[in-house]
Amino acid sequence: MSEAETVIAEGGAATVEAPSVALRNVTKRFDDFTAVDDLSLELGQGEFFTFLGPSGCGKTTTLRMIAGFEQPTEGEVLIEGENVAGTPAHKRPTNTVFQSYALFPHMSVEKNVAFGLKRKGVDKDEIGERVAKELQRVGLAREANRRPSQLSGGMQQRVALARALVNLPKVLLLDEPLGALDLKLRKGLQIELKQIQREVGITFVYVTHDQEEALTMSDRIAVMNRGRVEQVAGPEEVYDRPTTSFVAGFIGVSNLMPATVSAPGQVKLDSGPEVSADTGALGPGEGCAAVVRPEKLRVDLAGDAPPSNGTPSVAGVVESSVYLGTATQLVVGVGEGVRMTVLVPNADESERQSLPGGGARVVLSWEPEHMHVVIDKDEERDDGEADDGSDGDE
Ligand code: ATP
Repeated sequence: MSEAETVIAEGGAATVEAPSVALRNVTKRFDDFTAVDDLSLELGQGEFFTFLGPSGCGKTTTLRMIAGFEQPTEGEVLIEGENVAGTPAHKRPTNTVFQSYALFPHMSVEKNVAFGLKRKGVDKDEIGERVAKELQRVGLAREANRRPSQLSGGMQQRVALARALVNLPKVLLLDEPLGALDLKLRKGLQIELKQIQREVGITFVYVTHDQEEALTMSDRIAVMNRGRVEQVAGPEEVYDRPTTSFVAGFIGVSNLMPATVSAPGQVKLDSGPEVSADTGALGPGEGCAAVVRPEKLRVDLAGDAPPSNGTPSVAGVVESSVYLGTATQLVVGVGEGVRMTVLVPNADESERQSLPGGGARVVLSWEPEHMHVVIDKDEERDDGEADDGSDGDE
């Protein structure tokens, strides 16, 4: 999707479809502070694209430049192939949904949704039809005559969504739209939003600091850190194959062991063993961090561990064991200041009872394909310590 797609038009001639949104070397500075640093990206038509990162990483500023609420200091924003530098926000083929809903409190739901069309002078019957269709889509047909104050937060955000969609934007921009809602409602609306996006087929550009939200809904995710994009990839890839220690730490639990590449496909962990790993583009002698996701680690008491038979493993001591309902989380120290989190599903009660407790000497093991290495710069390690992306605010 990063390349402009080639479309075979009727009659067989190939035409090139412009990306829905393209950012070319976009930089935004506020005085001498660089909020967005030389960003280049292409978003495909109909893509659900998410900017994910901690507070202050520049994701909202990027969205605001696409919307036209901010102008880039350098670089270009193109929407459907057109440079929108001189186009004010209200003339761009975009609409924005904000966290705060921004509804008119004195107007009914129906009038809120109709507002934009009325201002554009759209025919009354057409307004009625389009408003009814969008209210139906977001499940609020029966609330059409209520005021926003008579609706729950989730319902108000649905009104805001209908109000944006009724204008048939080419690109819908969503700035932490579920941020004010409680967890259960948020989860329900994530699924709904994704369904609505599929149904309407327009490009959604979504901003969030919640990694789970990004993983649930997105076709692709750009993980941002300090104004720069660290990785752009699909949800599985950013989770399973992060390319930097920042991404590995921000998406999911930061399970990193400092290491050095010893040969292609081999790393020497600082804590001792030399193990097989996907070393990617890194060469021998390069410092790195080896990542294994918590659910991919197996834990055995030191005396009970099966013979390794080439399975990579590392010795450690259990520092804590916490019951989480569906799983038990063990934190295992495997060397100076290095801790690995292990998640063991609570499928079997007797198995759970036999898990090693605090202080136990254990062996962690994993399949070679579940370890790969990421670039490990000190500064990235510092940032990556926000373990859980859903609480990633700095
Ligand atoms: P958040 O979720 O907290 O909004 P974010 O990743 O969306 O985080 P931005 O709002 O894009 O971050 O802000 C990026 C940086 O730019 C922040 O340090 C912020 O303080 C700064 N910034 C944003 N807007 C302005 C402004 N109008 N003037 C000065 N600095 C700004």
